[in-house]
Amino acid sequence: MFENSSLIVNLINKPGIMGYRLNVLLAILLCNSIWANDNKYHFFIDLNKAADHSLYVNLTPPAFQSDEVIYHMPAIVPGTYAIYDFGRFISNFTVTDNDGKEIPVERIDINSWKIPRAKSIAKIRYEVGDTWSSEIKEAFVFEPGGTNIEKDKNFVINTHGYFGYFEGYKQNSFELEFEKPQKFYGSTALIADKNTATNEQYTVNDYMRLVDSPIMFCVPDTTTLNIGGAKILISVYSSKKGNSSSVIAKNIEAVLKAQKDYLGGKLPIDKYAFIIYLYAGIPKSSSYGALEHSYSSFYVLPEMEATALARSVRDFAAHEFFHIITPLSIHSEEIGNFDYNNPKMSRHLWMYEGITEYFAGHAQVTQGLLKFEDYVDVLQKKIRGKESYNDTLPFTTMSLGCLDKYKDQYDNVYEKGALIGLCLDIKLRSLSAGQYGVQNMMNDLAKTYGKDKSFKDEELFMQIVMRTYPQIGEFLNTYVDGNKPLPLAEMLNKVGIDYKETGITHEVSPLGGITPAYDPTAGFFYIATESYKNINSFGKSIGLNVGDDLLKLNGKKLTIENVETVLGDYYSRVKEGDMLKLLVVRKDDKGKEHKIKLKTKIVAIDFPVNDVLTINKNPDEKQLALRQFWLGQRKF
Ligand SMILES: [Zn+2]
Repeated sequence: MFENSSLIVNLINKPGIMGYRLNVLLAILLCNSIWANDNKYHFFIDLNKAADHSLYVNLTPPAFQSDEVIYHMPAIVPGTYAIYDFGRFISNFTVTDNDGKEIPVERIDINSWKIPRAKSIAKIRYEVGDTWSSEIKEAFVFEPGGTNIEKDKNFVINTHGYFGYFEGYKQNSFELEFEKPQKFYGSTALIADKNTATNEQYTVNDYMRLVDSPIMFCVPDTTTLNIGGAKILISVYSSKKGNSSSVIAKNIEAVLKAQKDYLGGKLPIDKYAFIIYLYAGIPKSSSYGALEHSYSSFYVLPEMEATALARSVRDFAAHEFFHIITPLSIHSEEIGNFDYNNPKMSRHLWMYEGITEYFAGHAQVTQGLLKFEDYVDVLQKKIRGKESYNDTLPFTTMSLGCLDKYKDQYDNVYEKGALIGLCLDIKLRSLSAGQYGVQNMMNDLAKTYGKDKSFKDEELFMQIVMRTYPQIGEFLNTYVDGNKPLPLAEMLNKVGIDYKETGITHEVSPLGGITPAYDPTAGFFYIATESYKNINSFGKSIGLNVGDDLLKLNGKKLTIENVETVLGDYYSRVKEGDMLKLLVVRKDDKGKEHKIKLKTKIVAIDFPVNDVLTINKNPDEKQLALRQFWLGQRKF
């Protein structure tokens, strides 16, 4: 019971970031995409003819030069950091020639089909089973990277789950054609070649762009924003048919505008899509999250109230959107020419994910969406967050091994990765008397590299040093490529923030360290043994018992749909002297259920904390100047 509820515990502990995230390291065009080719793939799917959880893909392949070809489904796609073997979901693979005769095929591994008489192939047809409903337990595909086929309701076309490529023919262009039910609409960052009531067609330049472009078909709930010259599509699917896209749009508009200003007033894209599926109940992976792409991000989130949903999407959006800088515009060859069946990782996750996460917070404080005090809180959380990872493992080594050996360290990209960005920014600013920071560094790199031009993985540090200072090379070698923990105290001191490793705080602890668990079968929040793991003295005074079902908090019913709002509001507003009122159901010795009211007066308590940041209210002149440059309050 408790395993299934872990996501809720997670959700409560970290309002804002929900579950774990998948991240796409991605860039679009290949360095050698000058070999544009009119010799196209044509894929066709008739969504009207889908079965429950499966459908047929029809392929008219490009013309081949060789006598034999190999068709691959990808083993892995960028950003999932897991081998998913999408060939596992393919069956009934048939190939026919121009005379309609079947060509015998050999399946050489789970993802690959060897086809003879390649020059006479006319059609390929196969069945795709969706991953969301799959009974396969091992390497279950986390929903944001998987496929969903709900006849007449919703189709999640994460393209890599439906479409493969021929060896040696990844650079050809791909045409996608869908017959669709009336009223259905394909939400995607792609711009349609043709879009009628029952048919949609798209063309992409190569397999890379194809995999980078998810499409969701359903009756739409969409809103479009125009920001900095780009169209921003927000599309939501809910089986409950709400109208959440406009609420979400309203909530993310300010963040996107701040990002546009941070990027110099214009967005370097034409269209971006937030594609959101609201899952009724608990997904099979027991987690919610998102898969980010270059021009879109695809979310699987719980059904919840529109405002709470908007808050979650906004927190994701702040990060996802900055991927248009890196890796989209600045990336190494490993990313620029991703190998779908034998992937090689880059050593620079500190940049793709770390700098992106750093920008997500830094943009909000420099553009006035976040107060300095609150931003310092964000940094403090990240310092605490990195404590659960190996701090002496060089980040470049972790990055190279993030698929296997260091898989469990990957999520540190959002914690220590962002702090690398912070330290680098302050270091650059202190070397340049305030005028040059990480933003400038990324802009300078973007002048040399771009979405079509990759850097060599092992040369990045040198390239950065050439554009900055020798001391930056030393910094990168010591703290990113080396095993030394970041010099946080030293760097933060430069901008007048004091860092202490331990301290005591005196404040209210809203639920006394108790984390309610959720029982998805019964539909109740309850107190599990694990809920008490971090209980403190105030928590003990509340009077809850293991096994209690939580019905109401301060008069408000507690449900999976409103938990973020009810607990979120309580957490943000509670102060000393308030009352905490709980209504619980408790079984007596004979198993009889009783409703019990618990009432506790909120008191602040002392508790020890690690990693305490305090803003120095009287910084010296140098500290103040550097702080102002860093926060964008002073410019040259
Ligand atoms: Zn990311």
